[in-house]
Amino acid sequence: MTFGKENTAARDMGTAVSISMKAWESNVRKIVPYVPGEQPNHKHMVKLNTNENPFPPAPGVDRVLKEINSDSFRLYPDPTVKLLAASLADYYNLNQEQVFVGVGSDDVLAVAFMTFFNSEKPILFPDITYSFYPVWCDLFRIPYKNPALDEKFRIKKEDYLQENGGIVIANPNAPTSIYEDLSVIEEIIKKNPGTVVIIDEAYIDFAGKSAVELVAKYDNLLVVQTFSKARSLAGMRIGYAMGQPELIKAMNDVKYSYNSYTMNQTAIECGVEAVRDVKYFKEGIQKIIDIRKNSEEGLRKLGFSFPESGANFLFVTHEKIPAKEIFESLRSNHIYVRYFNLPRINNFLRITIGTQEDMDRLLTFLENYINTYDN
Ligand SMILES: *Cc1c(COP(=O)(O)O)cnc(C)c1O
Repeated sequence: MTFGKENTAARDMGTAVSISMKAWESNVRKIVPYVPGEQPNHKHMVKLNTNENPFPPAPGVDRVLKEINSDSFRLYPDPTVKLLAASLADYYNLNQEQVFVGVGSDDVLAVAFMTFFNSEKPILFPDITYSFYPVWCDLFRIPYKNPALDEKFRIKKEDYLQENGGIVIANPNAPTSIYEDLSVIEEIIKKNPGTVVIIDEAYIDFAGKSAVELVAKYDNLLVVQTFSKARSLAGMRIGYAMGQPELIKAMNDVKYSYNSYTMNQTAIECGVEAVRDVKYFKEGIQKIIDIRKNSEEGLRKLGFSFPESGANFLFVTHEKIPAKEIFESLRSNHIYVRYFNLPRINNFLRITIGTQEDMDRLLTFLENYINTYDN
């Protein structure tokens, strides 16, 4: 009896709440969040939807995890992340003061947006790119403008010579997979000495030359990279930025102003091991590039086309069948790829390069699906 009464009371309260807005509600920061790719957990799935690496991280990471002692968790981790910043600096021939480490490059990019994009003028990034950028702009109230990529999804560099409050370019771009030559990137950096230019290089290891080599030359350049793709550590959450010490200090000042201890001890030590094993890193990248090449051939034979990829994924469109239909058929067969229902790219699928076995399963399914389509 009492039960029933209470429920009725709760329902009534719920109704009242939905009709009259709560007093605090007008002060809530309202934001449409970024939607990450789904993380299904089906036993026999083929997961090619979030650009994770299908191979394990460097063996040294396992060693760290076996040897780590919970007693070390009593203490706060090093807020300067010295150990990992130093090993990255060493690897890229920089000084430690030129490296900022954060909880995945999403965290690093968010700190960079907050630190550098405080102009009244709009920041610039392409109409088709990493869909987190507009979300950070909304969150931090940064005005932005989106110059359109050309019909082949290439950057028109003249678009980045207009007045701006900053620039962010993913190179290789996501989800198009296209790598722009470093000379194009350099010109954009060079012609914008008054604003910070962020080059998001999440996929650079599968492509060509990194903008890191330009760090010494340009004080407005920030290069952002991640351990999530080529280093197989998406679950450990490690990203980093490289730039001249003034930029890195400004980012650290912002970081220390909201959370000093973002990087946990385990992640720091695992990161160091992943950087140390150069041979494993290079071999892993080559394996993905080889599988990418095999997959390209298979997909082409089935009527797919795609831009040349500089990443661990392909951005494909089919000559006959709408991407959305292919996506849904794949999904109902536990093969997960990424589909963006967005202007200009809603007839494309982004397919992560998995193991050769993953790709064979994908191609076998597609072959059968295409051959029986319309029959
Ligand atoms: C994957 C990705 C990131 C984020 O990676 P983290 O896992 O947060 O390091 C950033 N930018 C682009 C373009 C990406 O594809």
